[in-house]
Formats: sequence, C-alpha cells, structure tokens
Amino acid sequence: MTTPAPDTTKTYDLSFAKWVYDNVNGGDKMALCMQCGVCSGSCPIGVQMDYGPRKLFQMIRAGMKEDVMTSNTLWNCTSCYRCVVRCPRGVPVTYILQDLAAKAVEMGYASAQATENAKFAKSFWWSARTWGRTDERLVTALYYFSLGFGEGIKRGLANLKIALGMVKTGRMHIGMPHKVKDAKGLKAILAKAAEIEERGSGS
Ligand code: SF4
Ligand code: SF4
Repeated sequence: MTTPAPDTTKTYDLSFAKWVYDNVNGGDKMALCMQCGVCSGSCPIGVQMDYGPRKLFQMIRAGMKEDVMTSNTLWNCTSCYRCVVRCPRGVPVTYILQDLAAKAVEMGYASAQATENAKFAKSFWWSARTWGRTDERLVTALYYFSLGFGEGIKRGLANLKIALGMVKTGRMHIGMPHKVKDAKGLKAILAKAAEIEERGSGS
C-alpha cells in the first residue's frame, strides 16, 4: 500500500487555536477538550456535518482555519445542547459552534451560507407569524423555492421519500396547516416583541 502524498496546497494558521480561545464565546473552555468523542457520538445531526464537533476542535488546534470556517458543521448544528449536557469536561460545544458561525459571516467566509440561512429564517418566521406554528411542509416548500424554481423542484424531489415516510408514520399531516388557538394573543405578543426590538435598535 502506498502512502498518499501530503496536501501541500493547504495552509495552516498555527495562531488560530489561540484566536479561538480568546475571541470565540466559550472558546477558552475548548482547551479542556480531551477528544473523547462523546459530543460527536451524541449529535443527532452528525451525519449531516462535514466534521463532528470533536474533529472540528482538533482541526482548530491543528490550525486548519479555512476548513473550519467554511465547514457546514457550523450551520447544521441545531443547538439541541445534547453535546453540552453529555460532555464530561463541560465544554460549551453549542456556544462555540454558534459563535464560530457568526465569526465566519463577519470574516466573509460564509456569505452564501448566511444568505441561505436568512431565507430559511424568513420562511420559518412567515409560518410562525401566519399560523402560530411552524408547518414543516410550507416552511420547507417556501424555503426551497426561495432558492429558485429549479432548486425548489430538485430539493423537493430529493426529499420526497422522506416526506412520504413522515406522512405514512403520522409525523406530517395532509390538509390545512394547524393554527394556534389564540391567534389574537399571538398577534399581541409579536407586536410587543417588535416594539421592544424597535426600542432596542433605536438606543
Ligand atoms: S465531549 Fe467534550 S471532551 Fe469529549 S470530544 Fe466533545 S468537547 Fe471534547
Ligand atoms: S448542539 Fe449541535 S453539535 Fe451539539 S449535539 Fe446538538 S446539533 Fe450536535
């Protein structure tokens, strides 16, 4: 068996770990990570990530800044906090990933991803505001088609099997979206939230 040649095109920033420790929310605790892998093993979204949190932390230590900052791991974390609850060293994995995502946007590593996430957030918010609930069918459809008609069809077909499986097992319903009971109350809450936000942004 031949040993693969090292990738000499990659650059490593050996000050990256220190930068993460000093600048990323929870980053100072990353030094406590002992690479046990409990976080990655517990993560329900692990299969959708380029690298699990354990590997990502090791890459930070190795100075693989570009790979870390462009990784989809930062965006696919759903903030379920499973890793945080289970980490034996008390590493705030979720906070680190969240803040790395924010930093990736600030530093221009993730503008396409940030735009896509904003589109998803818009779809999500539309459903929450209109129905008082997130209707996964409408949120998904709106989001997919906001990326373009062709992309909407492509992504819809790619996920059709999953959607049919969810309908079959009762995890997704057919028919009108379920509405929240107190629509008036919800409207008042949202109006108050908008008012508070307005006040905050004006200060
Ligand atoms: S569970 Fe905690 S200590 Fe273990 S690899 Fe993940 S962050 Fe590191
Ligand atoms: S908070 Fe993110 S990284 Fe941690 S288990 Fe949940 S999805 Fe995975």
